Amino acid sequence: MDKLDTLVRTYHDASTRLLLLDYDGTLTPIVKDPEAALPSKELLNALHILTEDRRNVVFIISGRDENFLSKHLGHLRGIGFSAEHGCFVKQPGSDQWANLTKDMDLGWMRKVVEIFEYYTEHTPGTSIEHKKSSITWHYRNAADPDLGSTQADQCKVSLENMIKEHNLAVDVLVGKKNLEVRPFAINKGEIVKRILHQHAEDVDFVFSAGDDKTDEDMFRALASLEPVGEQNGEASTSTLTEDIDSLPLVMSPPAPLGLGWTAEGAPTSTQSSIHQSPPAISTTSPPLAHSKASSSEASSSSISLQSSVSTQDSIGASTSADNATTTTSSATSAASSAFESPSHAHDQQQQQQLGLAVDVDEQANAGSRPPVQLPKLRKKNVFTTLVGPSGTETLATWRVDGPEMVIGCLVGMASRGGD
Ligand SMILES: [Mg+2]
Repeated sequence: MDKLDTLVRTYHDASTRLLLLDYDGTLTPIVKDPEAALPSKELLNALHILTEDRRNVVFIISGRDENFLSKHLGHLRGIGFSAEHGCFVKQPGSDQWANLTKDMDLGWMRKVVEIFEYYTEHTPGTSIEHKKSSITWHYRNAADPDLGSTQADQCKVSLENMIKEHNLAVDVLVGKKNLEVRPFAINKGEIVKRILHQHAEDVDFVFSAGDDKTDEDMFRALASLEPVGEQNGEASTSTLTEDIDSLPLVMSPPAPLGLGWTAEGAPTSTQSSIHQSPPAISTTSPPLAHSKASSSEASSSSISLQSSVSTQDSIGASTSADNATTTTSSATSAASSAFESPSHAHDQQQQQQLGLAVDVDEQANAGSRPPVQLPKLRKKNVFTTLVGPSGTETLATWRVDGPEMVIGCLVGMASRGGD
């Protein structure tokens, strides 16, 4: 296959590669019981080889929670994880998860659960999945599939009306036979931007694969990378004779996080913490070599979040609804007080020790950050791949039939590794 050959050849020619992979439906087939979607030996072997290569940065970017990812792939310490569509992140080589939603108020969950419960009661076979920062309604096993689809449409409208009425900073995601509600600015696209941002100086190859609409955010972020000078249309004449695919790329910076819900009655402390502690993104990410060299320590460089270095809060915490909702307000106020209290200095020191550089100035410029330069990356070295039938609308530049083909790509990359 020409495309596969090109992909593998480009991979081997590159010096720093980002592999950004969805899990369900991309690395494993979609199965009725989500717990049964296990990685194959072939996949694990390929991932092992790829993550052992110091030139690679491999991230699984999944809607799954960290418990599932850790259980089945955590033994490959070189893999980075983004769980729950970007709510939680574990850097390659680290054992610690950062909670990107820790400063957010998740009070909106109560209202979403009320709507999901209504549709679950009126649609036999459907169920609600509670994650720590998002809630999903599944209708894959609806007793009447047609009713499930109809109810899903109505449920989406109900959610959108409620979100509008209360001005909530959340998104409704339409997945495969499910609807998911999660914090605004937390999606696979943003997490991809943050990973790119972190490795901006070095990366010269990107392979991204996914299979559903949540992955389109990832493809959109990669498709939005523009050749230098093109982003404002200003170089359209000067670069006419140049090969656009050979120009370095720039990207818009990741969106600031820290948005909460703005409904009436939302805790005022949230407003305060939103205003005072948007996460800072390190603009001084170490090069990959440095990052890899320190990977045996607590953490390498990373996506920075003020007062949100995840320790006990996100590691092994329960994913039950009760815990998620009842700990929300305390987690929010704890995050807020950690930022404001004398322990902030300690937190800052801890973050710096972990490589989570804090850039206070970044807060003031959160809304006007300059474009991020990717000096070594070229458009022709960005491979976005959708697993799905032809005819599906996608921003990906390549389409394959099934997970086995994505695994084939990874095997292809791994098979000639070490050169
Ligand atoms: Mg998927």
